[in-house]
Amino acid sequence: MQHPGGDAPQRFPVVPGIPDRIVIAGAGLAALRTAEELRGRGYGGAITLVGAEARPPYDRPPLSKKVLSGELDDTSLSPDLSSLKVTACLGETATGLAADSQSGDSQSGNSRSGAEQSRGSRPGGVLRTDRGEHRFDRLVLATGARPMPLAGTAAQRFLHSIDEALALRELLRPGLRLAIIGAGWIGAELATAAAARGCQVTVLEAAAAPLAGGIGPQAGLLTASWYAEAGVDLRLGQRVDSVEPGGVALAGGGWLAADEVVTAIGVRPDLRWLDGSGVALDNGVVVDAGLSASVPGVFAAGDCAAFWSQRYQRRLRVEHWDVAVHGPTVLAANLLGGDDSYNPVPYFWSEQFGRMVQYAGSHHGAQRMIVRGDPAGARWAACWLAGDTMTALLTVNSPRDLSQGRRLIESALPVDAGLLSDPLVPLHAATRS
Ligand code: FAD
Repeated sequence: MQHPGGDAPQRFPVVPGIPDRIVIAGAGLAALRTAEELRGRGYGGAITLVGAEARPPYDRPPLSKKVLSGELDDTSLSPDLSSLKVTACLGETATGLAADSQSGDSQSGNSRSGAEQSRGSRPGGVLRTDRGEHRFDRLVLATGARPMPLAGTAAQRFLHSIDEALALRELLRPGLRLAIIGAGWIGAELATAAAARGCQVTVLEAAAAPLAGGIGPQAGLLTASWYAEAGVDLRLGQRVDSVEPGGVALAGGGWLAADEVVTAIGVRPDLRWLDGSGVALDNGVVVDAGLSASVPGVFAAGDCAAFWSQRYQRRLRVEHWDVAVHGPTVLAANLLGGDDSYNPVPYFWSEQFGRMVQYAGSHHGAQRMIVRGDPAGARWAACWLAGDTMTALLTVNSPRDLSQGRRLIESALPVDAGLLSDPLVPLHAATRS
């Protein structure tokens, strides 16, 4: 989860009316869910999906799990685009946006505020692509995020697309010296799959703990022993300078020889193509709680959307499945003239080293973390508190704690720290009377 800066809470003006033509840039989970929700609401207008990948939408979470393990080859999402009567322009990349309301501003680079742009301006415009252009009344930006590369002269492998997952799977064999750069979610899941296939896995992590970016160093460190148990060499505090033929150049002058190197240091939205369009960007597309962007008639969802969270009173960009699935429910309502808000308790899961890891909420700004149960045992949890309110929860093999804790976070009821730390007390009973 990212916490882009950005100004005070914004609500861009609602664009009323039912559009004739909706164009969606991106053809992943958020894009498909938007089309599905629109049709589910009875929308009968034109929907066009423009996706850079030549494939119809597919699911990514299984790529680092069942695809790598060989249990799945195909993760296509349903329903299919034809049943939704969507015009699919696949293998086509969005390259520019000319919004009618910008009326020449995009050329001059004029950067008025979102509110100014919206006042008196009309929605609609043209999405430019590498194959032509698509006129729209409403535009949805659902272009996801891309893995960040490192410096170096060797070609780098990533685990983001199904083709990359299938190619990696072919390489994983006993004795392969695999270097994984980054002990985040993807690095941990890849290490799990590669170790299970008998590879000799080394994970290089610049931070002092695995998963430090996602759950913070204190909780992340509680997962470090999982690597050694699985026979994976985890090297913390190890920066990488570059990826070179035959291995990895380490900061400080060292060298790690490897047959294959996978870079898994995180993802970022690639939105350079929107420069000059008038769409405000700040580590993602800046959208309000209704997922509306600063240009009227333009919206965003999924990994690329930096949305205003009324719950946390700051902007969040969440690179997880749950947000790409549920955000489009609100988005579809607002594309059709509604004024709904998306105000989730963010949720994600990961399957690593034989464990189901789940997280809900946001620990950003929490004052303390309480461990529930024994982290050396099979199941445990960590709860974050701000004052006497629980703001986030991490669970390991404890789905019941996760669902009760998620409701507790939603309720914002005061909790008793003593009860919270006792794994024999159900989380729903840990509220302060
Ligand atoms: P994407 O699925 O990335 O789709 C965006 C699409 O837009 C892509 O196909 C891209 O090619 C296309 N695009 C980009 N730029 C353009 C352009 N200019 N023009 C046209 N098209 C463009 N989340 C969890 O909560 N739990 C998990 O266990 C989990 N596991 C994951 C494992 C892997 C290997 C990966 C990669 C992700 C995982 N996630 C997981 C994250 C989750 O899959 C994403 O949050 C989700 O896919 C986001 O959906 P999206 O539609 O926003 O973006």
